[in-house]
Amino acid sequence: MTKIAFIGLGNMGGPMARNLVKAGLQVAGYDPSDAAQREFKKAGGSVARSVAAAAEDAFIVITALPAAKHVRAVCLGEAGEKGAFDEAPKGALFIDCSTVDVETSRELSAEAEARGLRMIDSPMSGGVGGAKAGTLTFMVGGSEKNFGLAKPILEVLGDRVLHAGESGAGAAAKICNNMMLAVEMIAVAEGFALADKLGLEAQKLYEIASTATSRCWSLNEYCPAPGPVPDAPSNKDYAAGFASSLMLKDLRLAMDAVKSSGATAPLAEIATKMYTFMDDQGGGNLDFSSIYLLLKK
Ligand code: NAD
Repeated sequence: MTKIAFIGLGNMGGPMARNLVKAGLQVAGYDPSDAAQREFKKAGGSVARSVAAAAEDAFIVITALPAAKHVRAVCLGEAGEKGAFDEAPKGALFIDCSTVDVETSRELSAEAEARGLRMIDSPMSGGVGGAKAGTLTFMVGGSEKNFGLAKPILEVLGDRVLHAGESGAGAAAKICNNMMLAVEMIAVAEGFALADKLGLEAQKLYEIASTATSRCWSLNEYCPAPGPVPDAPSNKDYAAGFASSLMLKDLRLAMDAVKSSGATAPLAEIATKMYTFMDDQGGGNLDFSSIYLLLKK
């Protein structure tokens, strides 16, 4: 059976790797965190002692890591340690599910190819709930051939696997999507904060706006004002489905891309300032919809 290496068993990677084990696949997981290793072992996964040991003999290597510097370190090695690119057999397919910048995805994919390996960028959306339920969306950048090879594995982890284009296109799609989401969430939060000042009940605004021209995911399914959407973080003291600090990370990636590409995104610039302020105030762990609390203050 093809061995899969899964590197980064955190909030997303942990449940994803467990879903692969549940599907009967042979998975070697690695994460420096003891808690992450314990959880994976409990689910029947085999824990490798290092990145190199996980990648050895693995024809598929999946990464779900915090940021670009971690992905580079895992693939290329650091501090004299070998990286996964050094250990994986020729022809192995690397699937990077982390949210990183387009340049990192393109550079690593080119380096993989130069070494006789394959790599796609495959960032995901759907949050921890989607990772647990196996209902993630993957946006893939890479050749048709590599996309075709990765698809059956990604379909175990999600229900939408979309080919965005060549290397880096998945990363670009993820950054654009989350930039739009941040602006959309702030717009909805502003509407509900104004309604509150005008004495209009959140439930009434929801009933009207969710079927009118301002309807969108942030309003209909994730309403930032407590009340209208029972399952939304706003009704759970803003416990993070998607933490504000992660939204800030994605907005910073978006702003870097805006600058380097010569695009214009004034609303995203304001959104970045607002999430930076929230983070500085200690709200980084709260769900990103808690921007509503900031606007109500
Ligand atoms: P996380 O911080 O919970 O998990 C990352 C894991 O990587 C940690 O367990 C950490 O110990 C491990 N790690 C760090 N360096 C490592 C190394 N050198 N080798 C092996 N493991 C290492 O983060 P997460 O929430 O699982 O997110 C993973 C990626 O997915 C991020 O890029 C994030 O932006 C993206 N993402 C997250 C969500 C979400 O809702 N959490 C949704 C979509 C995308």
